[in-house]
Amino acid sequence: MSTEVVITGTGVPHLAPGRAGPGVLVRHGETALQFDAGRATALRLCEAGTQPQALSALFITHHHSDHLTGLVDVIFARWLQTHDRHVPLPIVAPSGPATRFLERMLDPWQDDIDVRIEHAGHPHRPDPVVTAFEASAGPVEVWRQGDVRVLACTVHHEPVVPAVAYRVETPDGAVVISGDTIACEEVQKLAQGADVLVHEAFRRALIAPAIERMPHLATIAAYHADTAEIGPLATKAGVRTLVLTHLIPAPTNEKQKQGFADDVRAGGYDGELIVADDLTLVRF
Ligand SMILES: [Zn+2]
Ligand SMILES: [Zn+2]
Repeated sequence: MSTEVVITGTGVPHLAPGRAGPGVLVRHGETALQFDAGRATALRLCEAGTQPQALSALFITHHHSDHLTGLVDVIFARWLQTHDRHVPLPIVAPSGPATRFLERMLDPWQDDIDVRIEHAGHPHRPDPVVTAFEASAGPVEVWRQGDVRVLACTVHHEPVVPAVAYRVETPDGAVVISGDTIACEEVQKLAQGADVLVHEAFRRALIAPAIERMPHLATIAAYHADTAEIGPLATKAGVRTLVLTHLIPAPTNEKQKQGFADDVRAGGYDGELIVADDLTLVRF
């Protein structure tokens, strides 16, 4: 058996053709774990060959909208595509704003849910089962089933608190998903010896000239991971494969993608390096 990592979305709030909102799918045998659910995640899951009803659990990194706008779609697809075989989606999230969002997210849809139940005789409601955990800098185990477990630790995406990274361990090895964060020691430690590190990437040097015209870009730059700092992090962590996602600014051609890779290589990283597109798949 092997473990597969599929990037379900490489995008950010700003729209870019072909780039769904942030998300990563990890598969090992019958276990399918989704991390975040940005726009069009349900469609990408379908394209990746894992329907929403096949998910074992879904994990939230933080409460920014770009990581959550596709979540209700995943929940409804899972519910409507299974009818009387519906199993509520387990969702794991750090306690706080993310779990508050999860408690309220189906409220605007109650009339729709009621009319569908009445009309189609759904025996269940679509409500997911939410498990909240207290996020901390030291990793905590947040999920385990059979020989697969998931750990979480806090990262640095302030003022968005808490924001967490996840580490998935299977008998094949480990994959770490940074979520949104600056390049930080917590992710470096969590990713120690991992087969795959999926890290967000922000080309600060490329954005810098625009900051004078658009000062708000400075605040965005301050809470994302500069590509120049990801290379040293991945090198210290000793990860075999580094996958860049949540790409800012979104590359629209191979030359721009290569720019992300060049920044990371300049930081000394010499492992396998992938600048992800939607549905990029890595196996270990
Ligand atoms: Zn984001
Ligand atoms: Zn964010």
